[in-house]
Amino acid sequence: MVRSSDIRPNEVAVELPAATDAGLLFIGTIRTPWTARPDCPRQGRLDGPVCRIELHPLWLPALDGIEQYERIEVLYWLHQARRDLVRQSPASDGRTRGTFALRSPVRPNPIGSSLVALVGRTPSGLEVRGLDCLDGTPLVDLKPDRCQFTPLPE
Ligand code: SAM
Repeated sequence: MVRSSDIRPNEVAVELPAATDAGLLFIGTIRTPWTARPDCPRQGRLDGPVCRIELHPLWLPALDGIEQYERIEVLYWLHQARRDLVRQSPASDGRTRGTFALRSPVRPNPIGSSLVALVGRTPSGLEVRGLDCLDGTPLVDLKPDRCQFTPLPE
């Protein structure tokens, strides 16, 4: 079941300390077909729908060379997630696990990551398959899949 902001039986929340911001720069926005959390897949699939990654124009030159990779790692900020749970009950059945033993969006720094299939480049960014986030989710970073990454010769 997808979490709203409620707390479930046996879950444990903590009082969040003051933020010590590392100065994250959102580099764009992810466009997907999903506007509500219950509609999102729990994990993206490479045969899922084509989604758009829209970069802020400033960062478009940073895509140069990306076309040679079939798989891209996408990091994003799960902006609607609560951040204060140390134990969670994903099945809402009273059984809990530690936050760091889960891939739940609920975490102190709600960073999601997906390995996606690159469909192509567009004037505003990329088209990919394999995402699982809400439309409008802020984009944190893009990297070639580490298995495919080999530095180019001079
Ligand atoms: N693939 C990523 C990972 O493993 O790090 C995210 C997995 S997380 C289980 C995916 C779920 O997060 C979705 O099914 C949806 O319920 C929720 N979600 C998606 N976008 C979100 C957003 N922007 N804010 C909060 N929750 C979101």
